[in-house]
Amino acid sequence: MLKKEVKTTCSYCGVGCGIVIKKDNNDKVFVEGDKDHPVNKGMLCSKGMNLHYVANDTSDRILYPEMRWSRSHPRERVSWDDALDRAASVFKTIIKKYGPDSVAFYVSGQSLTEEYYIANKLTKGFLGTNNIDTNSRLCMSSAVVGYKKTFGEDSVPISYEDIELADCFLITGANPAWCHPILFRRIEKRKEENPNVKIIVVDPRKTDSANFADIHLQLIPGTDIILYNAIARCIYERGLIDENFINNYTDGFTAYKELIFKTSVKQASKLCGVPEKSIRKVADVIGLSKGFISMWAMGLNQSVVGTDKNVSLLNLSLITGNVGKPGAGPFSLTGQPNAMGGREVGGMANLLAVHKDLANAEHRREVAQFWGVEEISPNPGLTATQMFDALESGKLKAIWIACTNPSVSLPNSHKIEKAMANSKFVVVQDISHKSDTTEYADLLLPAAGWLEKEGTMTNSERRISYLPKEIQAPGEARPDVEIFCDFAQRMGFRGFNYNSTEEIYDEYCSMTKGTNIDVSFLNYDRLKTEGTFQWPVPEYRHPGTPRLFEDKVFYTPSKKAIFNMPSSIENTAVKPNDNFPLVLTTGRVRDQWHTMTKTGKVARLKTHYPKPVLEINPVDAYLNNIKDGDITQITSENGEVRVRAKVTKNIAKGVVFLPMHWGKQLQNTLNRANNLTHTVIDPVSKEPDFKYTRVKVVKY
Ligand code: SF4
Repeated sequence: MLKKEVKTTCSYCGVGCGIVIKKDNNDKVFVEGDKDHPVNKGMLCSKGMNLHYVANDTSDRILYPEMRWSRSHPRERVSWDDALDRAASVFKTIIKKYGPDSVAFYVSGQSLTEEYYIANKLTKGFLGTNNIDTNSRLCMSSAVVGYKKTFGEDSVPISYEDIELADCFLITGANPAWCHPILFRRIEKRKEENPNVKIIVVDPRKTDSANFADIHLQLIPGTDIILYNAIARCIYERGLIDENFINNYTDGFTAYKELIFKTSVKQASKLCGVPEKSIRKVADVIGLSKGFISMWAMGLNQSVVGTDKNVSLLNLSLITGNVGKPGAGPFSLTGQPNAMGGREVGGMANLLAVHKDLANAEHRREVAQFWGVEEISPNPGLTATQMFDALESGKLKAIWIACTNPSVSLPNSHKIEKAMANSKFVVVQDISHKSDTTEYADLLLPAAGWLEKEGTMTNSERRISYLPKEIQAPGEARPDVEIFCDFAQRMGFRGFNYNSTEEIYDEYCSMTKGTNIDVSFLNYDRLKTEGTFQWPVPEYRHPGTPRLFEDKVFYTPSKKAIFNMPSSIENTAVKPNDNFPLVLTTGRVRDQWHTMTKTGKVARLKTHYPKPVLEINPVDAYLNNIKDGDITQITSENGEVRVRAKVTKNIAKGVVFLPMHWGKQLQNTLNRANNLTHTVIDPVSKEPDFKYTRVKVVKY
């Protein structure tokens, strides 16, 4: 017999679908889509509808703390007291000897907002270092910088309900048909109901999203900015710019106009590999639309010119006046379920809570005062890849990794493993032994997972959801907030003696009062009884804010949106050469999530894409004597991968694609795409470039 239904949110992606949980008398969980949820209206994708397998199967779970006294000894089971006393003792010793910047925390966009908040308070407020970063650095830090430069703050201006009002979508550097399926279903429905709606996809691969589009521009990787500027030039030449919006609500148009006229459309066409007439057609479709939405994800963000790509795309919304009105706006698709919540509480090395900046002395003073500490260090914190560089060089001595699997997910995996092996002390706090990173743990801490703890998350459209605790965590696993607070108290820090997760949430909410992300009147009670809300929610009876900037007042000093000039118009960091003539791009497949520690447990999710394969164009396959199904060896300056070839016209000539999910799950590191990728990062956003690694491919 099934017990009462409980509502929660999917733990996978930033779409943030509502899920109804049912339990039987043995506390086995069943899931279905929440028909009343504004995001998914009852729909779930393959990953979401199989979440109960993940929740019910505890066979892979870390059940108790494990510790080793030296690298030459195996880890052994210890009590929580012994584990956290040792952690506190090691951190105190290292900080005393080498200073606070010798330790770091690496956390996750899968973490709940309360966990993110506490980890940041602990690190920046009390350990005295800004060395805390998150795997969200790998997915949307370029989008954060783009929004800040354009609108003055990291603020997604629109929401999913604008999809039903738009008549033109530009999907670029994203494959939402696979990676944000429920969101894409809403776009498909919009098109089915209104065939005049136009969908444009820009991608070097002919993805399922591209197959559905009216126009697919299969550009040469790295040339996105040239393409956007050429589209802007055509919009201008056709007289389709919004002069009223530009003149009254933006700054910087004159310089932008000069920039877009520097390259002819013909030259741009040649550089991008996109026919001139297609560029002009896309410009007409965008310029003539009443509501234009751009959507993007890792294809833009994960680039050495990720920030430049973002501001250049945002410029297209400004030139056409498509901000702050129904069915229009630039929409960054968040990869992880709570990447947005992490940004709200300052979950990155360069941020402070409530969208304050670490580089701003007044902001540091305000946050220090709120936490009752003397100061927040002005030293910039290490970002994700910088942390592992510092571990490798010995500058960083200890790292605490929570809820993420850098062995598989960070670029240049061999270097990451070497860095962890070289460190003095590694703490790994996670739910599953399937994470390859657990191998490097001197101290392994069992964390509670989805449904085993309570807290909140914010999805891609600024929608905050409450997630209840519904089942008991297996073994001795504990919620992450409890682990962080326990450790903080053993370090001797006051201010971590909370009675509940709700107290942590309330503390964060009170911090938001009077800011642009004010949720000071959105408490657990409202979230539990009234459902989800989009920030800001600045008053008791406030219904939340689906759309920002309707008054055309932006968060910049001039209150105007800014046309930003890219410092570079092309990705030329590591160009292909005779030794490595092809460009490797990596990405996700439909039914897997991140490093497969959860989706990899579900047999039915393996049928769609059972093993990693290398997608290669028939011309490149012919030139390298490779046939469909052959085992190929892919080599870069950093390592090698061996997988079978899939010869397909779906990928542009000169480009090859590998999925990023596989690590040692098959007892084989030769299928790990990040063996190949390099640690080149965007100079502003510090986001690594997973989309442009030069490689050589041969038949093995
Ligand atoms: Fe979960 Fe994302 Fe699928 Fe929705 S689209 S069910 S949030 S994985």
